Amino acid sequence: MAAVTLSELTKVYPNGFEAVTDLSLSLADGEFLVLVGPSGCGKSTALRMIAGLEKITSGDLFVGERRLNDVAPKDRDIAMVFQNYALYPQMTVADNIAFPLRLRKVRKTERNEQVRQAARVLELTDYLERKPAQLSGGQRQRVAMGRAIVRRPELFLMDEPLSNLDAKLRVQMRADIAGIQREFGVTTFYVTHDQVEAMTMGDRVAVIKDGLLQQVDTPEDLYARPANAFVAAFIGSPSMNLYEATLSRADEPDGDCLLTLGDQRVTVPASVIAAQPALAEYLGRPVVVGIRPEHLEDAAVATEHPDDQRIDAVVDVREALGAETLVHFNLNAQAVDSGDPDALDEMRDTGRCTARFAAATRARVGDRIRVNVDVRHLRFFDRHSHEAIAAAAS
Ligand code: ATP
Repeated sequence: MAAVTLSELTKVYPNGFEAVTDLSLSLADGEFLVLVGPSGCGKSTALRMIAGLEKITSGDLFVGERRLNDVAPKDRDIAMVFQNYALYPQMTVADNIAFPLRLRKVRKTERNEQVRQAARVLELTDYLERKPAQLSGGQRQRVAMGRAIVRRPELFLMDEPLSNLDAKLRVQMRADIAGIQREFGVTTFYVTHDQVEAMTMGDRVAVIKDGLLQQVDTPEDLYARPANAFVAAFIGSPSMNLYEATLSRADEPDGDCLLTLGDQRVTVPASVIAAQPALAEYLGRPVVVGIRPEHLEDAAVATEHPDDQRIDAVVDVREALGAETLVHFNLNAQAVDSGDPDALDEMRDTGRCTARFAAATRARVGDRIRVNVDVRHLRFFDRHSHEAIAAAAS
C-alpha cells in the first residue's frame, strides 16, 4: 500500500495524438480514486501509463517514494483487474487465486492460508474447488480480485471491471468491490465511463475530458459544486439543464436580481447573489445558468413558493418512474452544449428542459403548468469559458 502521485503525466502516441495532457493527481495511502469520463477521453491511457503498459511521454509517476517511469511492469508491485477476468479455465478457484503466490514460490501452508483469508472476504469459501466455468460472472470477477489481492500489491488498478456484468449484478459488485477495497486498504485507481459507478464507489472522483483533468473532488462536492459546465452536465442523471441567460439587478433597493431565461423571468434574491460574490461582475451580462432537474417542482402539488420564482411550461413528455415522474418541457431559451455527448442528446431540441417531479404530480402531456425554481441551487457559468462563476453555497 502506498500513496501515489501523478505529476503532469502526458501521453503522445507515435502518430502524434496527445491522449493525456499534464495529468496531475495524488492518491492518499488506501484511497479509492475513480477516473471517469466519456469514451475516448484518455482514461485507459492514463491507467496503462501507471501499469507500465504505455510509455510515459513526459511527467512523473511516484508510488510511495519510488519513481516508476522507467520501471518494468512486472517490477512495479501493481495489480490490475480488467473487464475480462482472464482466469485459467482448467484451474480451480483456489489455484487461480494462489497462482501469483506460486509464481513467487510462497510455501504451500502460507499459500493456503492466504487463499483461505481472501476467499472469506470475497465470499468464495464454498467455491474454492470449482472451475471458473461453474461460476457466475460476479463470482468470476471476485476470483480475479482475489488473485490480485493475495499479491498484497502497493496499488490496485481496475479498468471498467464491471462492464461485462448485467445491471443487477453490477450494482451488487459495486458495493462488493468498494467493501473489499476498504477491508484490504489497498490504494486503488479505478477507471470507468459510468458516472453512477464513479459516484457510488470513489472516495474521490476525477473527471477527465479530451485528456484534460476537469475536476477532482468528493462525489458530494462534484455534484453540488461542479467546476465547469461539462462536469455539471456529465455528473448526475438526468443531466443538469444548462441555458444561456442574463442576470440583472432588479429595480428594487433590496438588491434582488432577475434571471432572464428566454421570455421568462425569475427573481434571484440578494441573499443568493451575496453567497456567490463573483456573480456581481456578471450582472447585466449573459451567463450560462444550470438547474438540476430536482430543483424544479410542480407548483400545483407543492407547498408555498414565492410567485416570482416560477416559470410557465407546456408538458412535452412525461415519464412516470414510480417514485418520481420526469417531465420534459421546452423553454424558449438557448440550451448550452456542455461538451458531453449524452447530455446534448437529451437537450437536442433547443430548450428541452427536464424536471424531476414528485409522483403526486398530475401534469400530463400538453398541460400548461407552473414550475417552481429552487433558486438557491442555481449554478452559474461563464458564457465563454464555461467555468463556474462562483463556488456557490449549497
Ligand atoms: P474508452 O472508455 O472508450 O475505453 P478511454 O477514455 O479509455 O476510452 P483511451 O483508450 O485512453 O480512452 O484512448 C484515448 C484516445 O487515444 C482515443 O482517442 C484513442 O483513439 C486514442 N488512442 C488510444 N490508443 C492509441 C494508439 N495506440 N495510437 C493512437 N491513438 C490512440
